[in-house]
This record gives sequence, structure tokens and C-alpha cells, in this order.
Amino acid sequence: MEKRSWAEPYRIKMVELLKMTTLQERKVAIKEAGLNTFLLKSEDVYIDLLTDSGVGAMSDRQWSGIMMGDEAYAGSRNFYHMRDTIQDYYSYKYTVPTHQGRGAENILSQIMIKDGDYVPGNMYFTTTRLHQELAGGHFVDIIIDEAHDADSEHPFKGNVDMDKLDKLVAKVGADKIPYVCIATCVNMAGGQPISMENLGEVKSWCNKHKILLVHDMTRVAENAYFIQQREKGYQDKTVKQIVYELCALTNAATMSSKKDAMVNIGGFLAMNDEALYEKSCELVVVYEGLHTYGGMAGRDMEALAIGIKESVQDNHMQARVGQVEYLGEQLLSEGVPIVKPIGGHAVFLNARTILPHIPQEQFPAQALAAALYVESGIRSMERGAVSAGRDHDTGKNFMPKLELVRLTIPRRVYTQAHMDVTAESVIRVMKNADKVKGLKFTYEPKMLRFFMGRFEEVS
Ligand SMILES: *Cc1c(COP(=O)(O)O)cnc(C)c1O
Repeated sequence: MEKRSWAEPYRIKMVELLKMTTLQERKVAIKEAGLNTFLLKSEDVYIDLLTDSGVGAMSDRQWSGIMMGDEAYAGSRNFYHMRDTIQDYYSYKYTVPTHQGRGAENILSQIMIKDGDYVPGNMYFTTTRLHQELAGGHFVDIIIDEAHDADSEHPFKGNVDMDKLDKLVAKVGADKIPYVCIATCVNMAGGQPISMENLGEVKSWCNKHKILLVHDMTRVAENAYFIQQREKGYQDKTVKQIVYELCALTNAATMSSKKDAMVNIGGFLAMNDEALYEKSCELVVVYEGLHTYGGMAGRDMEALAIGIKESVQDNHMQARVGQVEYLGEQLLSEGVPIVKPIGGHAVFLNARTILPHIPQEQFPAQALAAALYVESGIRSMERGAVSAGRDHDTGKNFMPKLELVRLTIPRRVYTQAHMDVTAESVIRVMKNADKVKGLKFTYEPKMLRFFMGRFEEVS
């Protein structure tokens, strides 16, 4: 097959110098961090692949936008620019700014969910599910089974299993389902897209049952790119057109603009329904700020509006996803077990296979992330049993099928050489995998425990 070049459609005009650390320094740092990469100091990290959230490089145009901030308390010019951009690019008529994605999730969950409701979604996301539960709801996973299989090469592992939706409605009734929440480019499944065809089926299903369809649109542009590459009939459409079409199938959306839209902070809740908008405005003033800024500064809303426009450019997405694929293919060629197909924002290492001697109760993915940091100063993140947490009702640990380490690629930040070093380091850790030990909690937070939990090695 002819190789598709993913070279960056930009050049670098400012650089940020990094501190290089020694093996001894890294051993001390990870111990102080309780073997949790979230608790490392950023200064002690060489290549930071913890997340793609809020860590993208803004363009010169976005930085110019920062200087154009209208910091009026009410009715900032930047809000209207952002609102109009969201309507033009994402189709939604009303926008409520929030400080980031979870601010939008909180407001939506509080308005829509009643005690004892069920909220189906194509795999859980940590903050999304927590807000649903805090509002009294139960999350129900309706993603296709292939999504839970790291080796399945299904091109649309973010798809919904319509049978699972039918079974749920038969069991609990449509009036117990306030909305269906569909993520594009499903994070926890490994950055895997949903097809336009499948989203269309979900839309018809929701129409039939008169249930709202909510879009977790954090990575909608990456999803659109995969549709362009993989789905019949979309080869000649632009990412921009596909993004609009995806959004237009849904009724409302929560957005963490720290991802696709390449800003350091920000998010929003958007919708077409006026009554939902009014209720959201009532709550946003309680939790976030006035409805024309939410938790955002005027300058950040301006940078976000510009970032949305840049995020849907075909050449941007080709380089963005191309870089992730470049890393993934290097690892595959060396026999490293990763989630396939390679995702849109990250490469996910299969910790079960790399560390078969560590039982899941001893958190192999957490141990692997710590080992990778010590080896090379590369920071990754656990996405396995630690992230999955405990069952809200029984208090038992969830034991997800996927026990992964995520190497998340920030947008427009690192070079091909950084990807080479990353691949070399992963391979070195894998060669010494038998030396990695299982872990146990020394401190376990009650909610979102992966952020601040601390661990020690099991002797
Ligand atoms: C990051 C993320 C969120 C939450 O957004 P924050 O800006 O981190 O609060 C919600 N859903 C998905 C799929 C995400 O990746």
C-alpha cells in the first residue's frame, strides 16, 4: 500500500525547553508520587503523554485571539463569536460555556436525570459516569462487544449495539431513560470511532422512543476523520462537513474543548431545545458563572472559537491522527501488544499481555505506567481497574476487560523523534517486564481514585 505522509501543516516558531533527568532522579520522583503518574511534577517529565487534554499547542492565530479578549462580566464579544462558531461548525443553536467538559456534564446530569434513571452510553467515561451517578442515575454500557476486545480490528469500535438498547428499554421502559449519551471517538475504548450509519440508527431509535440524544463531542473531529477514511460514501467529504453531519444527528452536546479544539481550558453545553437552554442557564450561574462566560475568560472563548475552525481542517487531522498511527505502527512492528485499530488520540498498551505475571487485582497497567516513567521519563496514564473504580452500589472493584496504559499524544506538540524515543522506551520496558511488580493502594480516594490514589509494590 502506498504510504500516506502525515507531515505537519505548520512550522515551529517558539519552543519550550525540557529538563532531562537521571534514572536515579526518576526513581525518587515516582516514589514520592506514590507510583501514580498523575502525582509527578511536570518538571520531572521528559515526554508528557499523560493526556491530550488542555496540552495542545495553540496557533499564532489563537494567541492573537488571546490578546483580543473582551473581559466584560456580561455579554463579551468573544462569547458571541464562540456561540456563532459552534452553531456554524457544530450545528447547535444554543451554547452555555463551562470551565471544562465536566462542568457541562454536571449541569446536564442535574437537569435531566431523576433518581433511579438509566443512562445508556457507548462505554463509560470517568467524569461522565460519576455525574450521572451523583444525579441518581445508573450508567448502562451499550457499546458493541468488539470494543472490549483489544485485538478486534473492527473499524468502528465506538458503535452502539442496537440490541443492547432494545433490551434496556424493554427492561426499564423509555420513561426511565432521560437521554442516550453517545461519545464520538470513544476515549475509554482506545480512541475508537462510531460510524455515521450507526449514529443514524441510534438517532432513529431515540426518535421512535422520544428520548433525547446527547453527544459527548470531545473528539468529534477525530471521529470525522476516521469516517472519511473508512466509511463508504464519505471519501469525498471534508472533515468539516462530516463533523457538522455528526453533530446535526444529535440534540445536545457536552464538550471538553481542551481536546479537539486545542485550548488550555474551556468547554460548553450546547443544544437546540430552548427549554433545556433556559434550565441550563439557571444552573450555570450557580456552578460556573454568568451564562455568557460560564467558567471561561473572554480571551479563552476567543481562542476556542479559532481552535474549532482549525480543528476541522483536513490537513490538520491527517497530521494529528497520522502521528498517532506512526507511533502505533512502530510498536506493532516490534510486537508490542496495543489496542487495534490504532486510535485517534492515543496508543493504548495492553498491560495484561505485557505483564502476564501480575493479576488484575494488583493493577498491572498502573505498574506499567510507573515503570515506563522510571525507564525514560515518559509519562503515560493507567486506563484499567484503577480508573474503573468501584461499583457505586456494591462497593466492589470493577474489573474491566481492558487493562491499558494510554500513551496520549498532545496536538501539535511533539515531533517524530519524540515518537521514536517513546517507542524505543516501551520496547525496553517490555524486555524487562518480568522485573515489574504488582501494586496495592496505600491511599484510595472515594471518587475518581485514579487521579490522587497512592500505591506501593506488593512484596
Ligand atoms: C476529557 C473528557 C471529558 C471531561 O472533560 P474535562 O474537560 O476533562 O472536564 C468528558 N468526556 C470525554 C470523552 C473526555 O475525554
